[in-house]
Amino acid sequence: MAVLQILEYPDPILKQLSKEVTNFNSSLETFLKDFIETLNSHKYCVGLAAPQTGNLQRIIGIDISRARKPHLNNGLLILINPKILEVSDFKIVREGCLSIPDFTANVKRAMHIVVAYQNAKGEAKILSTKDFEAHAIQHEIDHLDGVLFLDKISNPASDLFRRVRY
Ligand SMILES: [Zn+2]
Repeated sequence: MAVLQILEYPDPILKQLSKEVTNFNSSLETFLKDFIETLNSHKYCVGLAAPQTGNLQRIIGIDISRARKPHLNNGLLILINPKILEVSDFKIVREGCLSIPDFTANVKRAMHIVVAYQNAKGEAKILSTKDFEAHAIQHEIDHLDGVLFLDKISNPASDLFRRVRY
């Protein structure tokens, strides 16, 4: 297993569209081991998308149990080819990103989502979740479409913040 390098803004790979995963084979399994190890290697990291590691496949990992503050959560989730089916209850929330280490931003997100995805075995699943977990999943799915929180803020003067380092 290996900890993968995280690409940082403005790396052009972060702006690319990731491809659907079609082969649920041993190379996917090997990647997922490294991907999970990478997620776990960053303190308080609650989510990661494969393109952040230079792998342009539609794979995200979420683990809200790793947050600094406690939140309702489903533990570690690996979502492959995720598609958001329903969104509701929008709020402005503060978010950060391993690929934009020096800033956080206020972004509008749905606090309730229903998402379809495949698990590591390729089985189709549906997840209904809310609050911070729903918010984090939307952030990571944006990465699969080459979207960063910097693309979502309307006014940098009021919505972008220098990160306070822990
Ligand atoms: Zn991010």
